[in-house]
Amino acid sequence: MRGALGGPRVLLRRLREVMAEPVSAQDRLDKVVVLIAANMVAEVCSVYVLRVDGTLELYATEGLKREAVHQTVMRQDEGLVGLVASEANPINLSDAHSHPAFSYRPETGEEIYQSFLGVPILRTGNTRGVLVVQNRARRTYSDEEEEALQTTAMVLAEMVASGELLAIAKPGAEPAIRRQLHFTGSALADGIALGHVVLHEPRVVVKNVIADDIQKEFKRLDEAVAKLRADLDVMLERGEVADGGEHREVLEAYRMFAHDQGWLHRLREAVMTGLTAEAGVERVQSDTRARMLRATDPYLRERLHDLDDLGNRLMRQLVGQDHAPPREQLPDNAILVARSMGPAALLDYDRRKLRGLVLEEGGPTSHVAIVARALGIAAVGEIENATGLFESGDAVIVDGGAGDVHVRPPPDIESAYGERVKLGAKRQAQYRALRDKPCITKDGVPVDLMINAGLLVDLPHIADTGAGGIGLFRTELQFMIATAMPRISEQLSLYRAVLDAADGKPVTFRTLDIGGDKVLPYMREEPEENPALGWRAIRLGLDRPGLMRSQVRALLQAAAGRELKVMFPMIAAVSEFDEAKLLVERELTHLRRHRHKLPDRVEVGAMVEVPSLLFQLDELVSHVDFLSVGSNDLVQFLYAADRGNKRVADRFDPLSAPVLRAFQNIIDKAQAGGKPVTLCGELASKPIGALALVALGFRCLSLTPSALGAVKAMLLDLDTQKAAALLRPLIDHPKKGVAIRGELEAFAAAEGLQL
Ligand code: PEP
Ligand code: MG
Repeated sequence: MRGALGGPRVLLRRLREVMAEPVSAQDRLDKVVVLIAANMVAEVCSVYVLRVDGTLELYATEGLKREAVHQTVMRQDEGLVGLVASEANPINLSDAHSHPAFSYRPETGEEIYQSFLGVPILRTGNTRGVLVVQNRARRTYSDEEEEALQTTAMVLAEMVASGELLAIAKPGAEPAIRRQLHFTGSALADGIALGHVVLHEPRVVVKNVIADDIQKEFKRLDEAVAKLRADLDVMLERGEVADGGEHREVLEAYRMFAHDQGWLHRLREAVMTGLTAEAGVERVQSDTRARMLRATDPYLRERLHDLDDLGNRLMRQLVGQDHAPPREQLPDNAILVARSMGPAALLDYDRRKLRGLVLEEGGPTSHVAIVARALGIAAVGEIENATGLFESGDAVIVDGGAGDVHVRPPPDIESAYGERVKLGAKRQAQYRALRDKPCITKDGVPVDLMINAGLLVDLPHIADTGAGGIGLFRTELQFMIATAMPRISEQLSLYRAVLDAADGKPVTFRTLDIGGDKVLPYMREEPEENPALGWRAIRLGLDRPGLMRSQVRALLQAAAGRELKVMFPMIAAVSEFDEAKLLVERELTHLRRHRHKLPDRVEVGAMVEVPSLLFQLDELVSHVDFLSVGSNDLVQFLYAADRGNKRVADRFDPLSAPVLRAFQNIIDKAQAGGKPVTLCGELASKPIGALALVALGFRCLSLTPSALGAVKAMLLDLDTQKAAALLRPLIDHPKKGVAIRGELEAFAAAEGLQL
């Protein structure tokens, strides 16, 4: 390296000695800047640290005026130092004064220095400060010098991260590493959780930054890369999925990067400057992350993510750390933080200790979100760079209903959420006390409350809630969280387990409702322009009878000697129902012929969730054994408003005349035909929705398990006659447009009903 005394390795060795000295943080920093300046033959070396308020404070300098230390504080959009911080990129100038961003602070005396080299102090891709060297004369710093300064900045990043600087920080202006953060992402699973961060893929903390023997480090790096490649080959050969539950394409991308010469070259270059192999990986990873955070092209971001994951794997290879944190060491009140996660990985954690989940990716329909809801874990998705900004052990609050996440929250926020949790727990205790009480309204009307379920983890909810059974078992969830099509034996064993858990209480299985937003990763179909209206649910089932037949067979066998209730989703025409029912009958005949034990009784029903059925109810009712209203879909189709699109989903209220008239019609037709009818959409899971539904005449509702207590408490206090007397005339002649919610709320308030 030209111009440097002894080169970067000598500098690193000296830095290591300084780091080990038992001196104060300020003394250490002061020594560090002297060392760097001398080594790089620079007249100035300064360290700026990013503070919680987003400004940069001069923490140490050699060359600038000493009085400016801890006095000079700059905004991130100020001067060249600000630019290095905000762009997270080095700036190397022989004539700094001519740069448009150049500005100077008179108290530092820096106006006499012409050349400038500034590098960001990065940790996991986040800027923590800026390290600068300056010279009076115009001078071009070489690429090697720039590289060396970046390596040195890594050592400083460790020092900032260690918290050592807190001792010399002004209160309220501490280094940003301790910053309180608040994010709003997408609400994945309701609930409030207070706890501490557990990184799903814990970052390896590099303890040994500076190499003793470079050749040894090259050898370690080469061996780790070779092992990484071999492991990926084996996984691909065996057709395994990656640890996070990702699929083949991700592994293919990993393998491609693992052979990328550019990546390997950068790793070797970093080690060349005097770092250990693991510190070299961290150095390159930090740059990758910084680029990733600033990339706007989604494809590029995705690839940088893959590269970052690969860096993590290589790091674990080098330090021999297992992929997953040891389950038994999971702290109480763990809040899991991950970039993305497969459902199986989430199920691996100890449910009793897990409180919340924060993901960088993951929308409400993601499989992990489904599992989080089933487990009752508060979850928020789409929190950018969560794994880079959250440190293991940080205090964190997850508000899964609002999609809010607070990291290192201030005491007032923490106590406000603490109160909400206490209130929620008190309510839950009240609801638990109602568990064994029959659900009979104040005026003596029994209402059957069932739960919606779909996974094994849902089954304990039957007993927890005291539900009358399962009103909707979404069989597609097993398919959605699997990485390959579940075999018939796997389906059979799940259905058996469900019936065993129900212990004689009725269970209504819905046949596969896939397509639309419920995508099976292993079943690739043509993309459709309108998936919600496309080839989905029963349409797909009837066109692919093999799939549906094996499912029906598994259901019939699971229910041998018991009752089986099965219903079909998205029926749009009576003929579709007849066709599906015929398939069930054929399977029954088949099993009978092969002398299998059969269910004692089989009931076959239709879901009412497509508006065309509203005009075929007379015919339909005579064909079915029961009806179940899927209000989520029915309302979406009645109003032509996508249930998953935030911009339109709340535009129309289900508690409005057109929807309630449709429900009324369904109840009337079912009663006339003597067929039972249930409603299993989300509307039943809100006390105000349940109030309207029971007032209309529904006597069986199927709910999200966590909602059962509140709905039951409301129903026990409800006078259905009074509610019906209010609602019936309003449906025909609503007072304000088509809305009815306001009147229902007023009624509940007057009656003292908890909504
Ligand atoms: C519905 O549409 O209301 C329903 C219960 O089914 P899903 O939410 O699974 O589409
Ligand atoms: Mg539906």
